[in-house]
Order: sequence, then structure tokens, then C-alpha cells
Amino acid sequence: MALYKDGGFLSQDFGSAFDANNASHPGTLAPYAGIYRCTGCGHEIAIACGHVMPPQNHHSHGLLSGPILWQLIVAAHH
Ligand SMILES: [Zn+2]
Repeated sequence: MALYKDGGFLSQDFGSAFDANNASHPGTLAPYAGIYRCTGCGHEIAIACGHVMPPQNHHSHGLLSGPILWQLIVAAHH
């Protein structure tokens, strides 16, 4: 789970970009810069704007965890 110290730097947003059904596939262009979590195992990554999501073999992901999909959990605002 992503951590933070000062909540004053974060604002809650209910946009659909954060929905699990809008999660990104491995190797696709990241729609937003920020922190993403694997919907299957909870592994978290940070990615910059314009970068590609990690490939299928990026992290240890058990077969029972289902497919790797990257869900946006914190978006960098610029
Ligand atoms: Zn995973």
C-alpha cells in the first residue's frame, strides 16, 4: 500500500482513471504519471509521464493472482 506523511500534498479524486476496469496492460503506454498497483498481487510501481508499463515478467506474480493489470492509485499532478 502506498504511504505518505503529509496528506496536505494529496487530494482525493473520484475520476474513472482510478477505476480497476481502466487498469493498463503490461507493455502499454502509461496514461498518467504516478503510482500504480498490480490488481492481482498488489505490487506497486511509480512511472513517469510518457513511459511504458513494465513487461509481463517485471515482478514475481503467482499464477493464482490472475493477469497483471496496472491500476492507477496516485496520479502526479502537473
Ligand atoms: Zn502482480
